[in-house]
Amino acid sequence: VNNIHINCSDFVAEMGHLLDEEVSPERRAHLLAHLAECKVCSVVYDSTRKTIRILTDSFELSAGEVKSSTEGIMARIRAMRSPHPETT
Ligand SMILES: [Zn+2]
Repeated sequence: VNNIHINCSDFVAEMGHLLDEEVSPERRAHLLAHLAECKVCSVVYDSTRKTIRILTDSFELSAGEVKSSTEGIMARIRAMRSPHPETT
């Protein structure tokens, strides 16, 4: 019974931490509650997690290496959501 509202930008901003398990159990519960009710974030979270799994399995990356990949993925997601995605 918490009435802390997490919106999609909050979720996306913290998704990396959630994937890295760097959130407090309380915050994690809030984020997972948002996931349960938001189809969009749930799909984004799921595919990001699968991508990370593929990276670790295929290249036997360490947690630290995967973490920087996560950041790259997160940057891409943020770019996708912005009206003027940066092209590098
Ligand atoms: Zn959402």
